[in-house]
Amino acid sequence: MNGATTSVELRAHNRVRLLRAVHDCGATRTRSQLTRDLHLARGTASVLVAGLAEDGLLHEEPAPGAARGRPTHVPGPHPRGPLALAVDVREDAWELAACELGGRVTVLDVRPHDGTPEGALGPLGEAVRAHQARLGPRAVGVGVALPGPVRHGGLVDIPHLGWRSVDVPALLAPDRGGAGAPVPGGPLVGNDTALAALAEARRGRLRGVRVGLHLHVDFDLGGVLVVDGRPLDGAGGSGAEFGHMPLTGGDRPCPCGATGCWSMDVGANALLRRVGLAYGGGRGREQAEHVLATSEEAVAANATALGRGIAALVNALDPEVVTLSGHGVELYERASGQLLAACEPGLMAIRRDRPPRIAGSALGWRGSLLGAMESVFDEFLTPEGLDRWRESHPDQAPDTPEPQNVTHSTLKGRNPI
Ligand SMILES: [Zn+2]
Repeated sequence: MNGATTSVELRAHNRVRLLRAVHDCGATRTRSQLTRDLHLARGTASVLVAGLAEDGLLHEEPAPGAARGRPTHVPGPHPRGPLALAVDVREDAWELAACELGGRVTVLDVRPHDGTPEGALGPLGEAVRAHQARLGPRAVGVGVALPGPVRHGGLVDIPHLGWRSVDVPALLAPDRGGAGAPVPGGPLVGNDTALAALAEARRGRLRGVRVGLHLHVDFDLGGVLVVDGRPLDGAGGSGAEFGHMPLTGGDRPCPCGATGCWSMDVGANALLRRVGLAYGGGRGREQAEHVLATSEEAVAANATALGRGIAALVNALDPEVVTLSGHGVELYERASGQLLAACEPGLMAIRRDRPPRIAGSALGWRGSLLGAMESVFDEFLTPEGLDRWRESHPDQAPDTPEPQNVTHSTLKGRNPI
């Protein structure tokens, strides 16, 4: 390796680091703060920022409230910069969004579906292709969160809906084949709980936490251990399944094939069952929300089951923090007393002395969608991803003038996502 190669590689490495830092901080830190964070020389940072702006990757805005005469700038997403298409597929509907570097989300489409693989994924695939065609090379990837175990290659089971080994990439893009094999440039498919946990680790309450436990509650419950910011996904990709452990002593058969699963006692299905309403099949979201808001007895039963299961997992895994997303946030807000009263007696004495903090997610229901975004930017923010971006923008001449003194919102208006 000669010196020239090394300096080219170093520059590529620093471009990725700078973009990653801008993305991870939500495009809130000034250029001088980033320069310090990344231990760069000021001149090096200036050259890097200028190059990334020329490539249509970054755009600087004056920092709000900057002192007169000492202008400082905040690098953020370029108005014609890369977009991650992110999808949160739930048991009854899906949401499709475009996400900028830095994490700003623009929802593009929300639709209910009938619960069948074709009914859910056919129209979603059409919507994704339409937006890809409109956005052209700005759409750098598609991340999809699904509410069931996902094996490598995008094979998905959603037991409540009768999905068995559904080839999600093939159904999203039927003309590209698929058959469980990852297609270059094809969608990145992940479990909703694992992706919510990833988002929580990047921009929520698991940020900076070495060992965390994340639990996502929708129709049922999913859980995953997060170590050093990474959800542990098992040997085959489907490790995030704490909801299918018999942690609460139940004996009901679960649609997953096991008996007495924890997720039978926590979530919208359990709330509906508790008050004698029909449940299952991804139906009844509004009724479940009504039960959550009005039935103290059903909420207490859910919170008690949640607390018992948390105690078992804390004994086994020793997390610093337990975070809750989806309905888990409201369950904790409405019934933290019952949850903690059920959790504490289940803890080993050595855990009870220093129990982990339990916290509602900072990201609400957005975690799975944001995690799908992160999976796309994780692939893009690499030297190879940035090379592909440059190749896809031959018309982005280095001397393209940037609009000056134009507010962010005006730029957005000119270049609608
Ligand atoms: Zn189960």
